[in-house]
This record gives sequence, C-alpha cells and structure tokens, in this order.
Amino acid sequence: MANTDYYDILGVSRGVGEEDIRKAFRKKAMEFHPDRNKSPDAEDKFKEINEAYQVLSDRNKRAQYDQFGKVGMGGNGNSGQPFDGSDGFGGFGDIFDSFFGDRTGQRQAQRGADLQHRVVLAFEESVFGANRELELTRLEDCGVCDGAGNEPGTSLDTCNTCKGHGQVRRAQRSVFGQFTQVTTCTSCQGRGKIIKTPCSNCRGGGKERKTRKISVSIPAGVEGGMQVRLSGEGDAGAEGGGTGNLYVYIDVQEHQFFDRDGSDLIYDLPINIAEAALGVNKAIPTLDGDDEDLKLPMGTQTGSEFRIKGKGVPHLHGNRRGDLRVMVNVRVPASLDDRQQELLKELAESFASSNGKSRKGESSEDDKGLFDKIKEKLN
Ligand SMILES: [Zn+2]
Ligand SMILES: [Zn+2]
Repeated sequence: MANTDYYDILGVSRGVGEEDIRKAFRKKAMEFHPDRNKSPDAEDKFKEINEAYQVLSDRNKRAQYDQFGKVGMGGNGNSGQPFDGSDGFGGFGDIFDSFFGDRTGQRQAQRGADLQHRVVLAFEESVFGANRELELTRLEDCGVCDGAGNEPGTSLDTCNTCKGHGQVRRAQRSVFGQFTQVTTCTSCQGRGKIIKTPCSNCRGGGKERKTRKISVSIPAGVEGGMQVRLSGEGDAGAEGGGTGNLYVYIDVQEHQFFDRDGSDLIYDLPINIAEAALGVNKAIPTLDGDDEDLKLPMGTQTGSEFRIKGKGVPHLHGNRRGDLRVMVNVRVPASLDDRQQELLKELAESFASSNGKSRKGESSEDDKGLFDKIKEKLN
C-alpha cells in the first residue's frame, strides 16, 4: 500500500469535521468498491480508503495521527501492512453496517430555507431608526392539513414496502463477504406511512406558499451593508426541522449635506479667506433639525475640525451618540472685482511692511482692518 496521507486518500483537508470525513469516505468507497470497480488496483485503493476512514473517523486515533503520523498508529497504519478485514480495524461487514446503518435509514429533519429582503433607508432613517412593513412570500405548513399531507379526516396506510419501519435492509455479497445495506424506503420516503387521500390544498406536500406582511423595526445607528435577522420568519422546515430566518439587508441613501464616519457625522463647511482670518460665527445644520451655533476663532485654517458633541449617530448598542464633526474648508476666491483686488493688494503691502514685526502666524491690527473690508466685499 502506498504510504499516502490519510487526508489525501479521502480527498479532504486536515481541519474538516466528522460529517465531511464520513461523506468523503462514502463517496470514495462507492467509487472503489471491488464489486463495482473492475480496475486492477481498485481493491488496494479500497483497502487504503477503509484504513484512512478507520483512523480519521475515530477521534482518538485521528488526534494521534494528526500529531505523530502513521508512526503513532501502533503499526496498524504502516505501509505494506496486509489488510485482511480482521486486523483490529474490524471487518468490512462492521464497516458497512456501521456506515450504511441506521443513520442513513432515517429521514433527517431539515431546517427551512433562510430568506433575504433588501430595504433602502433614507440617511435620517439609518441614524434614527425606522419601521418597515415587508411583503414576502414564504413556505409555510399547509393551513388545511396542518402539514400532515393527508386530507383532514382521512387516515394513513402503513407502508407495504417497509412495513412501517421507514427503512429497507438488503444483504449484499462482495469478495469480502456479506454485508447488510440499510437504505431509506423509497415508497414512503422513510415515513413508514403512505398518504391514501392527499390534502386537496397542498396535494400531499404538507406545505404551501403564503404571502405575508412582516413588520421590521430597524434600530437607530445601522449602516449600509448591515443585516437585521428575524429569527423564524423564513421558510418552514421539513420533518420537524426548524423554520429558517429572514435576513433584511440594509442600503442607505446618501445625504445632501452629511457624510458618516462610524458614529460621527461629517459636515463640510466652506468659509472665505476673510472669515478664516478674522473668525466668524456660523449656523451649522444638524440632522436633529435645529441649527447649532459654531464660533470659528480668528485664524482658522483650512482642514480644521470642530466638534458639536452628541449630534452624531446613536451607537447601535447603548445610549451614547457620536459627534457632528465640522470640517473647515477655506476657499480662496477664484475671481475678484476691482475693489477686492485693490483691498488685497493693500493687504499684501501691509504684510510686506509688517514682515518680521508680527509674530509668526498672527496678523497685525492694520491687517485686521483690511480683512474687515475684504470680508464686507466678499459677503
Ligand atoms: Zn395540506
Ligand atoms: Zn416504506
């Protein structure tokens, strides 16, 4: 037997769960079973697959193998080891009994499908929350037969094929001896009962499509790309499996004035050069409705940021709110009339003559008078 990694043999990666190992083994075993596969190396391959499965399906053996490789398997896993079906791994009959046994013979409860719905919110709604009524069509238990599938008042017959067991056992011979295969009864799909008179509403399926209106409360502070989960509002499940969930995906429209940065709102405030130099009072709009007064000091630079506390976005969890951040953008005029040019030239001369006299970054009193004139002209 080739000295190949057990995970490679089953074609799974190292971290996979037990269920995936079982599935992979089942697939490979079917493919290489010598009864089905007539290629000369099928038998060896089949033995390899069984060996890998015996180790990887056993939690302790798998942990040992993961840590030490085949050396840790007490010799059983060494390459070249003859595999006769009784070397401690158990015979093929055991393998197939345990494998194709009761687990596949029972109908499995299946959870209903999750449903998705998209909701577009106005910017204000994302900040302060919103209620929406969604209309959606989903699978529910039939209202007439309550999901049973038979017409109310009629009885069910015991399945003739499986005598009510829901499973069929079949003995199969192979080169390794006889093994028993247990499969789900196809006549009754494992229910053990046959519907004599199907429900007229669902035709025996037990489910029907229903259009429902569902109210969704979207919390304050959500952002585009988030989703709200409504547990149990999806499709109904099968065979006692739970109901799926409804996921409401949030899209948010842009706002004319505000941007968002986490729980802060961003407001871009353009001011002119005179306002920047002299300082100015500005009324700042808020999402709450009322304007907030903001005093910009003398010498406000472009890119300066001012915070209006608590006028941002509510935190999704908790009562706090972010801030409204005002970003100052000093605009240099692109065109000036004659008088403005005159004033600015005068200002330029004043700057030149006072050069060195005023401290760095400060304008002199003379300059302030000129700025006032410029400001009047610019407004
Ligand atoms: Zn029905
Ligand atoms: Zn049956």
